[in-house]
Order: sequence, then C-alpha cells, then structure tokens
Amino acid sequence: MELKGKKILVVGLGKSGLASAIFLRSKGAQVTVSDVRSVEALAQELPALLDAGVMVEAGGHGLLTFRRQDWIVVSPGVPLDTPELVQARGFGTPVIGELELAGRFLRGNVLAITGSNGKTTTTALCGEIFRASGQPTQVGGNIGVPVISQVAQSREDGWNVLEVSSFQLETIVDFHPKIAVILNITPDHLDRHGSMEHYIAAKERIFSNQTADDFLVLNAENAETQQAAVRAHSQIFWFSSRRPARQGCFIYQDAIVWRANEKAALEPVLPVSEISLKGEHNLENVLAAVCAAKLAGISVDVIRKVVAEFRAVEHRLEFVARIHGVEYYNDSKATNVDATMKAIAAFPGGIHLILGGKDKNSDYTLLHPLLKERVRAVYTIGAAAAKIEQQIAGAATVVSCQTLERAIEQAATHAQAGDVVLLAPACSSFDQFENYEHRGRVFKQLVLARQGLEAWQNVSA
Ligand code: ADP
Repeated sequence: MELKGKKILVVGLGKSGLASAIFLRSKGAQVTVSDVRSVEALAQELPALLDAGVMVEAGGHGLLTFRRQDWIVVSPGVPLDTPELVQARGFGTPVIGELELAGRFLRGNVLAITGSNGKTTTTALCGEIFRASGQPTQVGGNIGVPVISQVAQSREDGWNVLEVSSFQLETIVDFHPKIAVILNITPDHLDRHGSMEHYIAAKERIFSNQTADDFLVLNAENAETQQAAVRAHSQIFWFSSRRPARQGCFIYQDAIVWRANEKAALEPVLPVSEISLKGEHNLENVLAAVCAAKLAGISVDVIRKVVAEFRAVEHRLEFVARIHGVEYYNDSKATNVDATMKAIAAFPGGIHLILGGKDKNSDYTLLHPLLKERVRAVYTIGAAAAKIEQQIAGAATVVSCQTLERAIEQAATHAQAGDVVLLAPACSSFDQFENYEHRGRVFKQLVLARQGLEAWQNVSA
C-alpha cells in the first residue's frame, strides 16, 4: 500500500484514530482527521496532530471533507452507516479500519483473538505465554494499544498477539491471522450491529482470509462457533471444558490436555487445580490460550508455568476485599448478559448482585434460572434499572438503588458472612461513568473505604 502523497481521511479521533493519523503522516500521506467532538474536547489530541502537519475537522463531519479521498480510515467507534461514510463508499472510496491498515505493514505472525467475552483475559494470557517462550512478542489491538503503533517495532521472527473486536473486524479486507481464535459468540452490541446475523458475520471475518495453512481455534461448546466451522477454510482446532475434542485442548482426568490430531496421544499440560482464575468461563479462556500456544509450538513447561502464575485482569471477576466475612468482586467488565451469567455461575450461591447501567438492547430474562438458584438479591443502578426490574420480576428480590454507592451500601447491609457482593452489571457504563474502568475503580474505592472503616472499628473496639 503506497501512502506517499495519498489523500487519506481518518474518521474518529480515539486512540487508534490518533495513532493512524500520525502513522500515515510519517509515511508521507496528506492526512485529514474528522471528529464530531468539539475543538475543546479534542484539546489534548490536537497539538500533536497539528505539529505533525495533519489537518483537523472538529465539531462534526462535513460532507466535503469526505470528497476525493484516496482512502478513509475509520475508527471502531464510528458506525459504518454514518451518512458521510455511506456517501463516500457510494463514490467508490475504500473505507478500512486501523486493524486493516496496520495488518498491511505489520511484520511477523499474527495471533488474533475475538469473541463476545474473554478477549482481553485470553489475549493477556497468550501474550504472557508467548513472551515467556522467548519469542519477540507484542500484545495489542482492542486491549488498549493500537496495532498501528506497533508496526515499527514488529519483527519478522516475532508474534503479534492481538485482541480484535467485531467493530474492528467489520472493516478488514486482507487482514490475515496465522492463528485465529473465536472464544464464543453470544448476543452483544446488538444496538450497533442491528441483528445477531450481522454480529456473527462480523466475528467470522476473522478467518475470512485464512487458508489451509492457517489455524482456527473454536469453542466446541458454543452453538455459534460450532456453526462457524462449516464456513472456514483453515485447519480447525477445538477447545472444550466439557468433553474430548478431535484435535485441540480439553479436560481429561482433571487436567488440561492437548491432542495434536485425531490419532495423536494426549499430552498433559497442567492440572485444572493449578489455575487461579475463577469460573468455568475462565477455564475456557485458558483452554483457548493453551491451544493457540501449542499451535505456535510453545512447550508445555512454559505454558504450565505461565498459566499457574496468571491472575485475573483488572475489572474481570477481580477480588477486591473481604469485609465481615463478605467477599467483594469487581466484574465491571461484565457489560452484557452472558458475562454476567458467567460471573454468577462462578459462585455456588449467596450472591448480592449489582445490575444496571446503559442498556444495549439486552434480554435480561435470560438471567432467571441463575438468579433463582444463586442470587439472594439484586441491587439495580443506572438508566436500565426499570427495564431490568421489569424483566427479572419474580426471579429475585430487587432493591432499587439508582447509584453504585447506594447499591454497595444496601448490599453490605443485607449480606451475611460467607456471601458475595458482585458487581457484574450486564450493561455498559456510559450513563453514569466514563467507561467500565471508571465504574470498576469507583466500586473498588467504595468497597475499600468500607474496609478501612471496618479496620478502624476493630482498632477502636
Ligand atoms: P472482552 O475483552 O471480550 O470483553 P474480558 O476478558 O475483558 O473479555 O472479560 C469481559 C467480561 O466477560 C468479564 O466480565 C469477564 O469476567 C467475562 N468473561 C471472561 N471470559 C469469558 C468467557 N469465556 N465467557 C463468558 N464471559 C467471560
């Protein structure tokens, strides 16, 4: 892809838009960026862009800006049906995303990981394993580091371990991972993708350019990923937490084992008891990571050591504190119903569950069986509270709390020693917080403040 002298428009100035603009400029392109946020809101980003000679349109997209561009690079946060993009595509302007752009310049092998849930955990774990194996490894993508900013350091003999989202996959053309992983596909982002069919199609793009020389790792226990196998041209390896797989990773006699092909002997990797992550969903993430690592030729010794040492990523079923015998867990990243179900399932019972935030057109009735079985009370917060309360009526005791602070206070009042207070809200956070990290941090601060109070009470008693 020749960039010198090309007119390229970058739409959306998030982390990846900013990094793309700087990269494109460094390759000699004439770059314009367009963002709906105001000049004031972009105050942090603007100096670096202007210094680099990038033109900036702020406060909205002008149709004229989209004219006569050689390429448009769109950020994952910008919907593809934005009218200006639709028009530009109508004129034949190629529209790609930052992942596609980076993929065209990246050196070395790519391991790409997608799924509705578990991407960050699995990507972080794979990154640790690949690094520990001694191979040059970069970890990036949706996990927080734009891939385009990793191009310069990428190495022919190295691995790029990338977390990729459905939004990023929507705008790939030639992106081609050597190993692709789809952890699971369950309803998410339907507000943006419109239908489950579109969402599945976006996820399946991860293997659309793979050939018989490449590997695709799929979850044998997920209906949608089972279906995906039919459409793939790559070599398929399965992971399963429930039963043996033809080739791939599964549990046998309480240990994770690897089978290289139908006829190969089982190779033990590590006993399940050595894994410190909680819940069956995390066991699935570990199985997927082990599968990818084995396909990359990494030794069992390295894999075993890294998996045993790996701890929960922040905001993913993260243990916060034990106060008066009650354990507090932060799963702020549970922004959809499936992740919340997995979080509930990770505890045998006695759960005080904090639910709510910004609804993503989700179906909360799916929670009924687990609520009845394991949850003592639900504490609702945020804009989705009324919908959630209506949909879970009859399945659990509900306490309307509106704010996270009040929810923690109420949960702490009702919980008894041995219970768990769990923030796994099944919604995004944007109604009351900047993002899920902010929500998780506020939760932790409030809980730790209670712990401080408890310690103080103990001292003064
Ligand atoms: P992602 O990057 O796909 O959002 P994370 O690792 O950040 O994945 O986890 C997101 C949420 O989903 C967390 O609440 C986590 O506890 C939960 N989760 C993690 N792995 C899985 C899985 N395999 N299946 C379902 N839920 C999961």
